[in-house]
Amino acid sequence: MSHIDVLSVTKLSPLLEPQLRAVFNLHDRVHETDPAAFAKIAPSIRGIAASGESKVPASLIAQLPALEIISVFGVGYDGVDVAAAKARNVMVTHTPNVLNDDVADLAIGLMLAAARQLPAADRYVKEGQWPNGPMPLARKVSGARLGIVGMGRIGQAIAQRGLAFNMSIAYTARSAKADIPYQYFPNPTALAAECDYLVVITPGGAATRKLINAEVLQALGTKGILVNVARGSVVDEAALIEALQNGVIGGAGLDVFESEPHVPEALRAFPHVVLAPHIGSATSQTRQAMADLAFNNLKSHFEGHAVYTPVPECAHKG
Ligand code: NAP
Repeated sequence: MSHIDVLSVTKLSPLLEPQLRAVFNLHDRVHETDPAAFAKIAPSIRGIAASGESKVPASLIAQLPALEIISVFGVGYDGVDVAAAKARNVMVTHTPNVLNDDVADLAIGLMLAAARQLPAADRYVKEGQWPNGPMPLARKVSGARLGIVGMGRIGQAIAQRGLAFNMSIAYTARSAKADIPYQYFPNPTALAAECDYLVVITPGGAATRKLINAEVLQALGTKGILVNVARGSVVDEAALIEALQNGVIGGAGLDVFESEPHVPEALRAFPHVVLAPHIGSATSQTRQAMADLAFNNLKSHFEGHAVYTPVPECAHKG
């Protein structure tokens, strides 16, 4: 398949790029770095390799008349214009399920870190403050009320972990799920009013933009802790900073931000906020599984077989 031209639209994972190079004719971000070379190669590009944060707009799809498939290394594909792809009969694939455990583990890790003030505790010991007296008391996690915004694959994995902490679980999603035993609330505000920890794990994109706004944070309350492992766009970051400044909520644990990798100075300065650089799926084991799936989707397509994991919009005809 070395004659098949594939464009990477992002710096690919070192677990994925060599696999692609070994099999395809890979063009690394030429559309950004070398417009003249891109103009020559564009008519023959048949595949795109993207990451969960990549942008694949309609304008790029329109420049690639031979495009057949966009393979996303990640479960979130809010940067891909799926409607434009579908209109051209271009398949879009992603990497669901293989990262559920890691993202759920990180959500629980951020919840524990924010509630029990683990980064501050670490600094307390390392900076030699312990001999001066104990740290301020923290907040209990076990037995508390966990609210989950988005009860999909990862949301359910987070709920499972919450049960092991004897937490009561409630959720919101676009609709209540008949096969899910937890209490359903019709919107994030109603859910936030009834929980101590609010974990956000919806897709990004226009439909969820600023779903977590000032009203939701007000409902979560002064002792409540917000955890966001979804996308930065889902939380109104300015409203969150204001809520943290004014004690409207008790703290936060954040893996994702509005303008990654840039994080507002105000967020970085709060002692009661724990931050991570978008590492939800960032373990060797999971990134390998994601790379293999992203690669195999492309390979299977170009071998004339069905892809393994189409995005839902491409899984159904019509
Ligand atoms: P999923 O199985 O598709 O679940 C998504 C859930 O979000 C569903 O329960 C869905 O509700 C709900 N939802 C969608 N739109 C909503 C809206 N407008 N209001 C309320 N709820 C809404 O997806 P997943 O595999 O769990 O992944 C979820 C997201 O996690 C990804 O799209 C990605 O953005 C993020 N993620 C982050 C990281 C990280 O590194 N931090 C890693 C992986 C994934 P319905 O069931 O009612 O449709």
